[in-house]
Amino acid sequence: MERKRIYLASPTMHEWEKKYVQEAFDTNWIAPVGPHVNAFEKEISDYTGAKYAAALSSGTAAIHLAVKLLGIGEGDIVFCSSLTFSASCNPVRYENATPVFIDSEPDTWNMSPQALEAAFAKYPHPKAVICVHLYGTPAKLDEILDICRAHQTPVIEDAAESLSATYKGKQTGTFGTFGIYSFNGNKIITTSGGGMLVSENEEAIERARFFATQARDPARHYEHSQIGYNYRMSNVDAGIGRGQLKSLDLHRSLKQDIYRTYRDAFSDIEALSMNPMNIDGEANNWLSCLWILPECGVTPDQVMDALAEENIESRPIWKPMHLQPVYADCDFITTRSTGSYAEDVYDHGLCLPSDIKNTKEDMERIVGIIRKLFGK
Ligand SMILES: *Cc1c(COP(=O)(O)O)cnc(C)c1O
Repeated sequence: MERKRIYLASPTMHEWEKKYVQEAFDTNWIAPVGPHVNAFEKEISDYTGAKYAAALSSGTAAIHLAVKLLGIGEGDIVFCSSLTFSASCNPVRYENATPVFIDSEPDTWNMSPQALEAAFAKYPHPKAVICVHLYGTPAKLDEILDICRAHQTPVIEDAAESLSATYKGKQTGTFGTFGIYSFNGNKIITTSGGGMLVSENEEAIERARFFATQARDPARHYEHSQIGYNYRMSNVDAGIGRGQLKSLDLHRSLKQDIYRTYRDAFSDIEALSMNPMNIDGEANNWLSCLWILPECGVTPDQVMDALAEENIESRPIWKPMHLQPVYADCDFITTRSTGSYAEDVYDHGLCLPSDIKNTKEDMERIVGIIRKLFGK
């Protein structure tokens, strides 16, 4: 008999989602406009403390509009974390600008402030810095923001993975000129697909809504003086999002439990450690990750294979952007003399199943398979 499938991270729905979707059907607001869209924006603002929010069709769309609103275009340089998902930096290329990738630091796996300093020394006038909170762990925001402020460079916070995580008590996504969240299917809450752009700047968020709805100028007929996009969130999806938001704190605490369960279960294995936490923040632990000591005899591939054999999903660490063929012509800044920290994490880490529907028995199965590989 096939063993029960255990997922990396799959959607977890509750009752409110259905009620709100039913309401959208009952009122026939089946469009990228409607009361749920407005309410979801307000509720994300209330939850995060971000002043203004625009609900969009994806996190990638939110990053794209942030890039656009900062006036980034051909010939411009944008610094971006290398250790991330490609959606963090692809929008830079949509606008024909040039990303320069920045190495990670060992304390949180996020953008290294030292490498960022070095990048400013080499390229004094980037148009923006895209800073990621990887796997839901806040980056070293004080250091990064200080450096960016000194160089008068705006920050786009890619908080796609870190909704509900905090840094010094404040929500990630609310520190930068723009912050973005994702509601893709495997994120901590989902709308099946969707995103949010947040900012303190009301006018910028209004511009984002304008560009997200095909940049239609005010006129009775269809008048366009700029290129727009079809990036608005649907009212049905916003209904799902409103329902999910009610369970965000629950999801976070279940994710944190998963992290602690793994950490405790592997604490006697010297070759294993968990992805590091920022001591100045509280992660949402979207994905729990393992770091395997190099040359200990077990590789991340062996762990992923052993889990896959038991019908358990795991995933490699994001392959750093500076190693991607499509970004081969882009510069990469590290303060190390050989290799990079981002590459080390990619080579020696993996993402463990972090689905909040995992039972105690599921967790024991996963832990047992991994412990056995390490002779326990
Ligand atoms: C998921 C993700 C995105 C993109 O969000 P979508 O909603 O899937 O477009 C961007 N950046 C990071 C780091 C992500 O994990």
